[in-house]
Amino acid sequence: MNQKQFETKVKQTIKQYKLLDKKDKVMVAISGGKDSMTVLYLLKKFGYNVSALHINLEMGRWSEAHLSNIKKFCDELKVPLTVYSVRKELGRSMCSIKSIVKSKAKLQDCTICGIIRRWLINKKARELRAAKIVTGHNLDDAAQTVLMNYFKGNLFIGLNEGPYVGVISDKKFVQRVKPLYFIPEKEIENYSRSMKFPVIYERCPCVIGAYRHKIRGVLDEMQKTNPKIKENIVQSFLKILPELRRKSLAGKPIYCRQCGEPGRNEICRACSIMQYIK
Ligand code: AMP
Ligand code: ZN
Repeated sequence: MNQKQFETKVKQTIKQYKLLDKKDKVMVAISGGKDSMTVLYLLKKFGYNVSALHINLEMGRWSEAHLSNIKKFCDELKVPLTVYSVRKELGRSMCSIKSIVKSKAKLQDCTICGIIRRWLINKKARELRAAKIVTGHNLDDAAQTVLMNYFKGNLFIGLNEGPYVGVISDKKFVQRVKPLYFIPEKEIENYSRSMKFPVIYERCPCVIGAYRHKIRGVLDEMQKTNPKIKENIVQSFLKILPELRRKSLAGKPIYCRQCGEPGRNEICRACSIMQYIK
């Protein structure tokens, strides 16, 4: 895929799924990785009203290096950036949160970090009056998630899959959209490298033991003989997703009794994690 084809494919996803409107205030949740940096660059280039939101996980030099790249990139693109720190918001660094929670509950690093990040991103994006949150999720992420849910024996965990997250329709829930959803990770890396974006290509240091990491290895290996394997997994899942959403509690959000944020349980997943760090 050359640069032009890459850009066209992202535009097509946005158009086909009506992900964004030029009038919307669009907030890109930016980690500093190649995916979110690329989607930020493209949306700005396509003429959307974009700003960026970063959660500083306070993971030492790793976080500092990402934050400095993000600031530089947003400056260059003239995109307003808002940064929130987990230490300021929750009193601890992400490493500290994870080690305490893991000593008390059987949860993986990436699960804990993901739940806290999503909770903070939704809350902050709503306070900043964003119409949409954009994430950098790609085809590899999607195929891995679908497979992981099959292996866990519960496809209902995958309700947030698809190019837009549409499970809960509610004024407190900012819709998340994923313009890179059908683009393989490798293509995003090629694009980002060829554009010389200020990005660190190493994976997060916590990912190594993660279940997702194993699944990534399996899929990458199988792709060598079946080049369309990731696309096939995702496309076949998307065919049954509307049915899964119908059968779930779609459209009926529950406000968490503790934090008031929308979710699927009386006590949201973030609060059930945060109780351990109080
Ligand atoms: P991940 O769960 O690490 O695969 O990240 C998925 C998406 O969430 C990324 O593409 C970003 O859009 C967003 N994201 C991840 N980490 C952060 C962060 N620290 N701050 C803001 N957004 C993030
Ligand atoms: Zn809560």
